[in-house]
Amino acid sequence: MNADIALMIPTETSTRRSLLEMDLAQLGDFMQELKEPRFRARQIWEWIYKRYVADFDAMTNLPKALRAKLAEIATVSPLQPIAQVVSKDRDTLKTLFQLPDGQTIEAVLMLYDQRRTLCISSQVGCAMGCVFCATAQGGLARNLTAGEIVAQVLYFARYLADPSLPPDTDVERPTHVTNIVLMGMGEPLHNYNNVWSALRRLTDPEAFGLGARHITLSTVGLVPMIDRMADEGLQIGLAVSLHAPNDELRTQLTPINKAYSVDELLAAVRRYVAKTNRRVTFEYALMAGVNDSPELAQEMAHKLQGILCHVNLIPLNPIPDSPFQPTSDEETERFAQILRDAGIPTTVRLRRGIEINAGCGQLRRAMTASGNGRRGQKGRSMGSD
Ligand code: SAH
Repeated sequence: MNADIALMIPTETSTRRSLLEMDLAQLGDFMQELKEPRFRARQIWEWIYKRYVADFDAMTNLPKALRAKLAEIATVSPLQPIAQVVSKDRDTLKTLFQLPDGQTIEAVLMLYDQRRTLCISSQVGCAMGCVFCATAQGGLARNLTAGEIVAQVLYFARYLADPSLPPDTDVERPTHVTNIVLMGMGEPLHNYNNVWSALRRLTDPEAFGLGARHITLSTVGLVPMIDRMADEGLQIGLAVSLHAPNDELRTQLTPINKAYSVDELLAAVRRYVAKTNRRVTFEYALMAGVNDSPELAQEMAHKLQGILCHVNLIPLNPIPDSPFQPTSDEETERFAQILRDAGIPTTVRLRRGIEINAGCGQLRRAMTASGNGRRGQKGRSMGSD
């Protein structure tokens, strides 16, 4: 790996009240508990969601005593960044965060073209067991709370808004997050309620206020939850990790396929499109000799006929101790062309970010394996591995 890594020292693990776990009414109740007028809640809310402030001392329209009290008993962000990696071409920034209970999660900021896309996590670990995925290897530790999900976004919103914050990636920092993808660690539909509380907060014009169409949720295919999502009335983009067009192969790669077959999954996708009018993305990580044959491309083209969709072919990001290897560029192009010839819009995802372990769960795994993930190190170390 050829990237700069900065390690930070975590301070205390916090037992303070996290304001990101509260909606506006609950924040009002909290103010009343503190014998403060309810309108203070609105002031704090604006600081958090409109100005991305995490430090009570900067909330200058609050009385000094209240600021001091809040600093003692509450916290805005439950996340502590403990390691950051910037890619060689300095357009991808990956951060490992420590949560109050010592668990760690990753999020990635991608600075491409005019977009500022954030890839966030929904769980610590994952229970889905996909055989090629780094996160799956440790199993599921726990769900993230809604506040921990929202906090990842606010952290990077703050970073983009303040050019003086490290690390300096040498690229211009336009001031706001333009897109969010739930494609980090975890299966978002396996943590449905917290993910949806977070999505409401992120899309609410009174809170973070990003348009639902700029947010994409990626799922391995929990069919009942896809239907539930279609009924939420928000135009969140849906990405489905397909990876194989038939049950025999898909069950080997993504074991959840035993519970929901390819046909059931595609039927749910059709229902989602019918309800939301949104084009669905199918993700397909190409693995040499496993799921990349022209016959499978044809089978997939056949299965996807008539679905308003787009296919995103992902070159596999190989993980340590895994037999799976990426398909060559040539074979990838051939696979893509078969789909395109059959009328299925298909793109090949760029390999950006790979050298900084931007693949799912990979930085966390590397850090935990070396023992640095929890403790951090003094100062800033620039290294490559
Ligand atoms: N659980 C969700 C979202 C997290 S993973 C899901 O399954 O969609 C985001 C995407 O990265 C998924 O398509 C996942 O299958 C893919 N992925 C996981 N490990 C990968 C690897 N080693 N190389 C390439 N893609 C990978």
